[in-house]
Amino acid sequence: MMGNIITELLDFIFPRRCLKCSKILDTTGYLCDDCAQNINFITPPYCERCGAPLYGDLIKKCPDCLKKKRRFYRLARSAMIYDESSKGLITSFKFKDKTENAKLLAVMLKVAGKDIFNSDVDLIIPVPLHYTRLIKRRYNQAAVLAQELSLMVNIPVDCQSLIRHRKTRPQVELSGQARISNVRNAFSVNHFDKIKNKRIVLIDDVTTTGSTLKESAKALKKAGAKSVDVLTLARTL
Ligand SMILES: [Zn+2]
Ligand SMILES: [Zn+2]
Repeated sequence: MMGNIITELLDFIFPRRCLKCSKILDTTGYLCDDCAQNINFITPPYCERCGAPLYGDLIKKCPDCLKKKRRFYRLARSAMIYDESSKGLITSFKFKDKTENAKLLAVMLKVAGKDIFNSDVDLIIPVPLHYTRLIKRRYNQAAVLAQELSLMVNIPVDCQSLIRHRKTRPQVELSGQARISNVRNAFSVNHFDKIKNKRIVLIDDVTTTGSTLKESAKALKKAGAKSVDVLTLARTL
């Protein structure tokens, strides 16, 4: 009873707002109906390997995966298409310290990653920032997501073993080939014993060309990881 009164009082003083557009919510949840409806969640059919949306369910893999294009990770999944609607939700988390979004976004990761979590996973690892960027931004959004997700799926998180030892330019400023060379060999593992023979899920916010994830996965495999899966909030089409 007392709890209810306090909750009601708090809702009155600090009404729940949509995490994307800040509209006051009259129901429980995180997003208003408009914002929730505009998000393009990735639902089947999608490539069983890399998670790319497929048009029709006659084939199980996308053309790249059918060609057996070499990748350093086993499975990849994303929760949403990266577009104007998902962008607002992700960047408000990234740049405006809206860490309360982390819970909602971690639920999205958990749902999108069900195929990954159905197999055995030992460790969750966020894509690291270079320490100079971490000081500037104060937190690594991928690490915040990884920590929330770790609590939900009951798998330990390791934010120390994988490092970005070379400072890179933000990938959004670059295109195509420049993105690939920007992050080439930028990652390394400093605790081999913690990575060796582990089945790892790499977490990041957005997959664009995939070069950052590829380089991170490469460093983990080099350190002896048994497998690396990739889970992100959104991917570009
Ligand atoms: Zn809204
Ligand atoms: Zn594919």
